[in-house]
Amino acid sequence: MTKKIERFFDDAETRTPCLVVDLDRVVENHACMAELMTWGEIFYAVKANPAPEIIARLAASGCAFDAASPSEVAACLKAGIAPDRISYGNTVKKLSDISFAAGQGVDLFAFDSVGEIEKLAAGAPGSSVVCRVVVSNDGARWPLTRKFGCHSDEAVALLKCAAGAGLRPAGISFHVGSQQTDPARWCEAITLCADLFARAADAGLSLDVLNLGGGFPVPYGDGAVPELETLSNMIDQALDEAFSGARPRVIVEPGRAIVANAGVIRSEVILVAERAYDTTERWVYLDVGRYGGLAESEGEAIRYRMDAVGCDGPSGPVVVAGPTCDSHDVLYENAMCVLPLVLKAGDIVTLHDTGAYTSTYASVGFNGFAPLEEHYI
Ligand SMILES: *Cc1c(COP(=O)(O)O)cnc(C)c1O
Repeated sequence: MTKKIERFFDDAETRTPCLVVDLDRVVENHACMAELMTWGEIFYAVKANPAPEIIARLAASGCAFDAASPSEVAACLKAGIAPDRISYGNTVKKLSDISFAAGQGVDLFAFDSVGEIEKLAAGAPGSSVVCRVVVSNDGARWPLTRKFGCHSDEAVALLKCAAGAGLRPAGISFHVGSQQTDPARWCEAITLCADLFARAADAGLSLDVLNLGGGFPVPYGDGAVPELETLSNMIDQALDEAFSGARPRVIVEPGRAIVANAGVIRSEVILVAERAYDTTERWVYLDVGRYGGLAESEGEAIRYRMDAVGCDGPSGPVVVAGPTCDSHDVLYENAMCVLPLVLKAGDIVTLHDTGAYTSTYASVGFNGFAPLEEHYI
């Protein structure tokens, strides 16, 4: 938690559950990444946290943006971002949404199928397109594979098809999966893409964009993740080896790594109960859960660090659950979360590094529980 957020909690009356994001930390994260990744251009993946305050601060820092829907495109344009700094990275788009973005001047789109080429040709004729290929997502805590991307062996044929439809085949994109913990995933994907660039050249296409996607991991505290600097150096070296001097324009689309550690959620304990099922367990029910923004707790994939404000003394293992009457609204059963034994109803629990993939995952009011309150400071 940043000093600024600590002061905010000291001074401001906040209700729970609430998310507080330190915008200075967002800007610092971007600056740090830009300094390390001089080999690429940063396009912030808006879906990680689309708050206008975040978009505005990143825009002022010179960041570009990866949008996935017309409203994300509109949010970027509203912040004064030029359309040539927006990439439409979703490979599944309605024709009307493509037309809207193209009409606003967006000229860089991702695709991974013939059906999408047809829509792009109709809605954004002449635009630049990158073909997304499937790469291994092994090692990712929140994989994105299978739903997106063509087989790499299809990519050149699809890019030729795009050219035939009057689009400009610009390059290749991939995503190694979110919260990717293994740097080898980017390196092997870069090698694969270099081969596709060569095959495209043989087919008469001159590609000049390589989009490495996001996936840059955040140290949530449940296992080591590679340092950003190590990762950046390894990617830089992989680019050198794969493209031997003639590097394309390289784009990265971090989402989580820009906003996660800038945010903290505060939640109130509703109940602590000893439950004698197979064994006796202590259950802690919070006023935030799976439907209040913590969707990434599904499968216990993302394990947020938690602590209890002002509770000292010995701690013990607990199951942590949310407030709704839905049995899927259990955050962590296997993760062996540990909270103080004195914890009781009314106490406050802090969930750390929750600036990414939380606010917009909150339901509109499932079971009558309001969406997460948000503060951008
Ligand atoms: C979600 C997404 C990202 C961001 O991924 P992170 O793991 O948050 O960095 C980037 N690009 C695309 C196309 C995405 O769908």
